[in-house]
Amino acid sequence: MNEIKSSNYYVDKNPQDNGDHEVHREDCKKLPNPASREYLGNFDCCEDAVEKAKEIFSQSIECFYCSKE
Ligand SMILES: [Zn+2]
Repeated sequence: MNEIKSSNYYVDKNPQDNGDHEVHREDCKKLPNPASREYLGNFDCCEDAVEKAKEIFSQSIECFYCSKE
């Protein structure tokens, strides 16, 4: 039986050079400091978190580091 572990996700309020706002899981080593991130909610996968982030920043993408796991 597969137990789905949900996590808290955050979006970086500061865009990358190309305008993307990265979405991070709470345990990501690239997680921005509290002043620079917006709490999105608790999700089972980063795709759902990115969809939520797009309501705030239309140009949101999943983080390279935490999405590859
Ligand atoms: Zn990340």
